[in-house]
Amino acid sequence: MTESYVLSLTERAASGPNFVGGKCFACGGEPTSGQGEHVIPKWMQRRFKLSDQFINLINGTRIPYRHLTIPCCEVCNNGFLRDIENEVIDFIDRPDFSKLGSRFALGRWLCKIFVGLLVKETSLLLDRADPSKGPIVSPEFLEEFWHAQLILQSARKKTLFNSLHGPYPFTLYQYKIEIDDDFGQFDLSTNIIGQSIAIRMGTVGIVFVNDGGLQYVAGRGGPLNLVGRRLHPIQFSEIAARVHYKATLRDATHAYTTVETPTEIIVDQVSVRPFSKILTAEGSMQIFRPWDDIECAQLIEHLRPIKGPPVYDPKSRLFTTTLSNGRGGIQSPKRFLGPKK
Ligand SMILES: [Zn+2]
Repeated sequence: MTESYVLSLTERAASGPNFVGGKCFACGGEPTSGQGEHVIPKWMQRRFKLSDQFINLINGTRIPYRHLTIPCCEVCNNGFLRDIENEVIDFIDRPDFSKLGSRFALGRWLCKIFVGLLVKETSLLLDRADPSKGPIVSPEFLEEFWHAQLILQSARKKTLFNSLHGPYPFTLYQYKIEIDDDFGQFDLSTNIIGQSIAIRMGTVGIVFVNDGGLQYVAGRGGPLNLVGRRLHPIQFSEIAARVHYKATLRDATHAYTTVETPTEIIVDQVSVRPFSKILTAEGSMQIFRPWDDIECAQLIEHLRPIKGPPVYDPKSRLFTTTLSNGRGGIQSPKRFLGPKK
């Protein structure tokens, strides 16, 4: 086993051809002949009764959760990927966000689901892409995919992340969720372009962005500074929409240096690297393109689990939110749910 053992596996897993080559998504090796890795783990499918439910992928494909699998080898599947799962199973029953370690474990686990969806969606897109139009997997995309892989591989070998914006190199916002039987116990939304994923499971709601922590620069408390608060499922869907939307506006990435020694991997986030290099009014490099309330309103409506009044009314030019009561507090769910049947 050489010193750069894990980094070379990561490199192989995150290489462009591996997306279509059907190799193990986590090491680039030969996959098993079986189903591979379930992107939404089986224990979650059982617990939240998902096996007959469908997920909508961005290219319009609808897949039942139980068929949402990606190529994976036996060693990864039963090894470090299982460890990533096991770390969070108990957490879902007894959530405790006060420990930094459990927040990292949760972020890493969400990152695994995100990478799974990314691999699935990208391979479907590549299958249908017109090769004469050039690659749809850009070098920037692959670089960020490589970074997401590094987060996963930290379960294979001890990894030290030195990050510019927070304790770990990603954005993670967590919420307590009210149980409302009309809304079920589970909800998932992703934004492959912005590299964000939001999951609501039982009393836990979490949003992860593979952005090296850039949304922390915009606000540590997340949208409307509500991190850690108790939200209704509709309110969580609005939070998710706001984070997904912000993620699509990201106009920068990071430069990293990565070193592997016999005992650990050290990942240093060196600097923020803007994509467009547009200067803001304050004279700094733009990190997020300007926010458009109307675009965001469309996404909030799209992700709402039930139909409600429009988020933006073009006639009155007024926006409604499920989150703020306009007096610095959280809106009562009664205001937007109406009377119980
Ligand atoms: Zn593997």
